[in-house]
Amino acid sequence: MAAAPPKVELRNVNLRYFGLEGETEALKDVSMSITPGEFVAIIGQSGCGKSTLLSLISGILMPTGGAVLLDGRAVAGPSRKVGYMLQQDYLFEWRTILENAVLGAEIQGADMGKARARATALLTRYGLGQFLHHLPRQLSGGMRQRVALARTLCTEPDIVLLDEPFAALDSQTRLALSDEVAVILRREKKTAILVTHDIGEAVSMAERVIVLSRRPGRVKSDHAIRFAAAERPTPLAARNAPEFNTYFNRLWQELEVHVEG
Ligand code: ADP
Ligand code: MG
Repeated sequence: MAAAPPKVELRNVNLRYFGLEGETEALKDVSMSITPGEFVAIIGQSGCGKSTLLSLISGILMPTGGAVLLDGRAVAGPSRKVGYMLQQDYLFEWRTILENAVLGAEIQGADMGKARARATALLTRYGLGQFLHHLPRQLSGGMRQRVALARTLCTEPDIVLLDEPFAALDSQTRLALSDEVAVILRREKKTAILVTHDIGEAVSMAERVIVLSRRPGRVKSDHAIRFAAAERPTPLAARNAPEFNTYFNRLWQELEVHVEG
């Protein structure tokens, strides 16, 4: 039997935006291969093409060169295999928490009885069982992002794309929630791609970190993140592991962070 294809594969992908002000080359010759169940972080400076890369994987954008494949098949448009979690939670303020959590299922025309049962189970597991019929404004930022996660997972995607999902939260909430999200995605055996400019978040959450260069984004380097402990530490514990600082410093140099001004 042939080996299973990668879950996500990019082959020499180029992406140029064409606008009124001319062309922007956002990504250039980007190739990567992500196996089923892998948790990969993609880091790079603002404007290097991280969100563009996720748009290509989700089928919202088509590459101007090269190919994007999911399970060995070229992406031709948005797919139910892919779930997306963004920095802004985009909850509808007039819908209850439960109604927000089933939104993706509703758009897909799924069985709403099943979707509500699944959303209720997810929200309860994430500590929001008491809030099913509340409105988003009654919840804290961290709770709202948990609703956004439940909405993403309610449609049962194989692949979860996370675009700086914690960037708008205060640092305490951010640490706690990133820990929970990583644990949940691992337990559910999702293939996860996290885009962030936060090196600590990448090293603590992902088993592999890919660094993109400045625009046009290219793959600059690819790092396996390994801990000596027999079992992979949770993201919070990983931050205290001796390996954390080593990886952090290596990636810091790779990113060439300069303070401008
Ligand atoms: P990142 O997420 O890493 O900050 P993006 O993928 O959002 O970067 O953007 C990469 C580059 O492409 C940036 O220079 C941005 O200004 C440009 N860009 C993004 N979206 C568009 C668009 N719709 N039209 C034109 N240029 C765009
Ligand atoms: Mg972005």
